[in-house]
Amino acid sequence: MTQPSPQSPVWHPFTQHALEYEAPQIARAQGAWLTTGDGRRIFDGISSWWVITHGHCHPDIVAAIQKQAATLDQVIFAGFTHEPAEQVAHDLLAFTPGDLAHVFFSDSGSTAVEVALKMALGHWRNLGEAKRTRILALEHAYHGDTIGTMSAGARGVFNAAYEPLLFDVGRIPFPHPGAEQATLDALDAQCRTGTVAAFIVEPLVCGAGGMLIYSQATLAAMAQTCAKHDVLLIADEVMTGFGRTGAMFACEGSGVTPDILCVAKGLTGGSIPLAATLCTRAIYQSHYSQDRTKTFFHSSSYTANPIACAAAAANLKIWRDGGVKERIGALSGAHSALLKGLREEKRLVNVRQIGTIAAADLAVSDAGYLANAGLTMRKAFLDRGVLLRPLGSTIYIMPPYCTTPAELTDVYAAIVSVAREVMP
Ligand SMILES: *Cc1c(COP(=O)(O)O)cnc(C)c1O
Repeated sequence: MTQPSPQSPVWHPFTQHALEYEAPQIARAQGAWLTTGDGRRIFDGISSWWVITHGHCHPDIVAAIQKQAATLDQVIFAGFTHEPAEQVAHDLLAFTPGDLAHVFFSDSGSTAVEVALKMALGHWRNLGEAKRTRILALEHAYHGDTIGTMSAGARGVFNAAYEPLLFDVGRIPFPHPGAEQATLDALDAQCRTGTVAAFIVEPLVCGAGGMLIYSQATLAAMAQTCAKHDVLLIADEVMTGFGRTGAMFACEGSGVTPDILCVAKGLTGGSIPLAATLCTRAIYQSHYSQDRTKTFFHSSSYTANPIACAAAAANLKIWRDGGVKERIGALSGAHSALLKGLREEKRLVNVRQIGTIAAADLAVSDAGYLANAGLTMRKAFLDRGVLLRPLGSTIYIMPPYCTTPAELTDVYAAIVSVAREVMP
C-alpha cells in the first residue's frame, strides 16, 4: 500500500502521482465502511468526499436504482420528461423555502453552480439590466473546478495555472468571528455599484477552504444586504445540503431564502451523480417569453438521468420517512462529547463543530512542513484503518449518519495518535 506509484494508466483527481502511495483498491462498501480487494476494512470518515449521507449502499436507494435501470435508463430531457424527475422536483421544492419554485437538473456540484451563475446573468439581461454582470464571492470560497466555478472560488496553488482564463469577481472578506461588520460593509459597498448580478456563498461553512464556520446571524445579514440592493443570493449547498450542518439545508436555521440554491453531493444519498439548481419564480419568469433569445441555453447529455433521479427520489423518501434528523442529532451529540477530549490535545487548535462536521487545525505554522504533513497524515490514518483527508493543516471528520458513537470514538483516537506521530 505504501509503495510509490510513479506511473498509472488512470490519472486520479487532485493526485500528484509522483508523490502518492499506491491507491488501495476498494471492492465493496456498506454503511460507513469500505472494504479493499484483499479484505481490509477502512472507516469512511469523509463520506467518500462528502457525498454519502445515510451510509453506503442503502437498500432503498440500491433497489430504486435497480428498478429504474431496468425500466427507463436514459431519455433526452429537452422536449421530454419522466416521472422520476417530476417526483424529485416536487419533493425538493417541498423541502425548501416557498419562494423557490423551479428545479433545473445537471450532473455535479460544479455544473449546478455554473447553471446558477448563468441563470443570474440571464435573469438581468432578460430584464434589460445588462450592466448587472458582476459576481461577488466569499474569501476562502470553493465552488468547483470548472473555469466558471474556479473563478468564483478562492485563488491559490490549485488554480494558478488557469488564472488567465478566470473571470474577475468581487471578493468579500470571510466573516471571521468579531469581524462580521467588515464583511457586511464590503458586501454593501460592492452591491451599491449597481453592477452586481449575484453574490454566491457556501452557507454557514466554507468547506474546501478549511471548514471555516460562521454564524446564522451573519448569513441572514448578508442575505438582507443583497435583498436591499436587488442582488441575487446564490446559496451553494452542494456540501452543506442534506443534513451536514444539522438542518436539512444550512439556510434553514437563519430563515434565509436564497434566490438560487445549488444541491448535488448528497442529493442521491451519494450513490450516483446528480445535481439540481433551484430558483425563484422571478428568475424562471424572466426567461419565460415568446422571444427565443430569452431561453435558458444550458444542457448536458445526461440532464435529469432517470436512474439518478430514481436514486434521488429514494433518498428524499428516506428523509420524509423520518429518523434521519434523529440520527444526525445523535451524531452531532457524539461529536460534541468527543471534541472535549480533542481540546485537551495541545497539538490541535481551533477545535470546532457544526452539526455532523468536526474540525481542528494542527498547531504548525511552517507551510513547507505542512505540504508534506498532509500526505503523511493521510497515510498514517490509512494505516489505522481510517479514511481522513486533511485540508492543509485542517483535520476534519464528516462521516455518514449511520456512524455509531463507538466508531466515532475510534476515529478521534486515530486523530490524536496521528497528531502525535506527525508532531512528536
Ligand atoms: C464539492 C463542491 C462543489 C463541486 O461539486 P462537484 O460535484 O465536485 O463538481 C461545489 N461547491 C461546494 C460548496 C462543494 O463543496
